[in-house]
Amino acid sequence: MKADILTIFPGFFQGPLDHGITRRACEMGLAKIEVHDLRQFTHDKHRTVDDRPFGGGEGMVLKPEPLFECLESLQLPSRSDRIDDCVAGRAKQSVILLSAQGQRFTQSVATELAALDRMVLICGRYEGVDERVADFLADRELSIGDYVLSGGELAAAVVIEAVMRLLPGAVGNEASTRQESFTAHAAADAGAADSTCGSGGLLDYPHYTRPADFRGMAVPEVLLNGDHQEIRRWRRQRALEKTLRNRPDLLEDVKLSDEDSKILARIKGGRE
Ligand code: SAH
Repeated sequence: MKADILTIFPGFFQGPLDHGITRRACEMGLAKIEVHDLRQFTHDKHRTVDDRPFGGGEGMVLKPEPLFECLESLQLPSRSDRIDDCVAGRAKQSVILLSAQGQRFTQSVATELAALDRMVLICGRYEGVDERVADFLADRELSIGDYVLSGGELAAAVVIEAVMRLLPGAVGNEASTRQESFTAHAAADAGAADSTCGSGGLLDYPHYTRPADFRGMAVPEVLLNGDHQEIRRWRRQRALEKTLRNRPDLLEDVKLSDEDSKILARIKGGRE
């Protein structure tokens, strides 16, 4: 997977992407990240990338020319070919504008992007980007959440980290990325404790490690007794509890087993 980042602050990415799994994925040759400085695609003495908004109003707007020229230098298939490929379910490249007005970036979008060969991430700044970039250059707009950042750089780093850890081979134990919070395809099979309570769209269950007793705070007894069925049930219950408490909206899209529904009814009953 190749990721291209278009930004006016190329130095921003020295650091966030040089650690952990993203770094490992690059070192292993699974991923390559290239940062493109938009000022290299300006033609005036001051390397101007922004200008005042038509119609008046606050702040400055990122100009379209450097963004179009920078993207053209990457020699991707045309936008209409990319969109046709996407509609036909065979998208290999995607040009993404990071924007507070974009569709929500979620784990399922991360999974979708991890199947691409190449993603191009356009980072806005100031009041935003000339709208012609969204209309004629980018394939989609993505937002990392309902809040406003000062620039798309942090959002691009978030997208890259979430996507690259899903590349096959990037995380040592691949099963671990299948069982995390939000991951829809949980293992439904019975068996070992760690293979049976995967998220299935819920939040993750709680994790503990040694020491079993830390300053009087004990690890739940059930995790120490080696009874995999009991551990599985406990983990599922805790995942359901936490989801109900922190993200009840997720429960609307989760396929609950009979056992899950009983556990939920019990939890709700206990609350009343
Ligand atoms: N005026 C805009 C905000 C511009 S913030 C509005 O009200 O929607 C400047 C840039 O930061 C944006 O162009 C975008 O690239 C980035 N940005 C801000 N919030 C973001 C978010 N939640 N997700 C992704 N990118 C964001």
